[in-house]
Amino acid sequence: MRKKIVAGNWKMNNGLSETIELINDLKQNLSDSDVKVMIAPSYPFLKTAVDQVGDGSIEVISQNINDNKSGAYTGEVSIDMLNSIGVNTTLIGHSERRAYYNEDDALLLKKINLALESNMDIIFCFGEELKDRKSNSYFDIVKAQLENTVMKLEPNSWKNIVLAYEPVWAIGTGETASAEQAQEIHKFVRNCISEHFSSEIADNVPILYGGSVKPSNAVEIFNKKDVDGGLIGGAALNAHDFVEIIKANN
Ligand code: PEP
Repeated sequence: MRKKIVAGNWKMNNGLSETIELINDLKQNLSDSDVKVMIAPSYPFLKTAVDQVGDGSIEVISQNINDNKSGAYTGEVSIDMLNSIGVNTTLIGHSERRAYYNEDDALLLKKINLALESNMDIIFCFGEELKDRKSNSYFDIVKAQLENTVMKLEPNSWKNIVLAYEPVWAIGTGETASAEQAQEIHKFVRNCISEHFSSEIADNVPILYGGSVKPSNAVEIFNKKDVDGGLIGGAALNAHDFVEIIKANN
């Protein structure tokens, strides 16, 4: 059975005291469950976050990695640095990185390969823009995003990959994909993986939905057969809402 995952992407929010406070609130309110919980604070607070979550059930992950191992890349953070503080999973391909930092499929593939070589697991984000949805080209766009990146990997790599379908038009907009729209793409992606690799790989890869998930819509979305949890932005900044979303998987 696939693991249920809820990951909170804090983006460029929360200073030191808010990071500690939010983690403490989460720890107090998370009851035992089978859901894997992840949080992605900003770089300066990752080590504090790792210490703060302790041996509990929350995994601290990174929002991004650099595509080089080390060297003269001022202002950047390497995978080895993250590994050295106990951060062993990263987001790759978030739509904000694609849009504001011009991260294209070739760069994302480079990051994916380096991460996998360096014992870093991946949550790979993909999803169409509003214009693609309106012109009904969203299946082609999603397929191309995957074919240019994760479909180029060795079958063995899939055990270290989680996918996150995040339609760009639903991120931070309050506009959520309906549960049916999410299921439609998740199933499509699973079929593509099955055709390209095997039904076993397709059945085992967790596919998260992301885009304005809130306590009020989480149950309906997470109940869909091919949706294995969520990547949460805004609602992950509020302990009560994030915990409610985690519970929506039960
Ligand atoms: C995200 O940033 O990955 C995201 C899904 O954001 P939000 O939940 O705010 O739409």
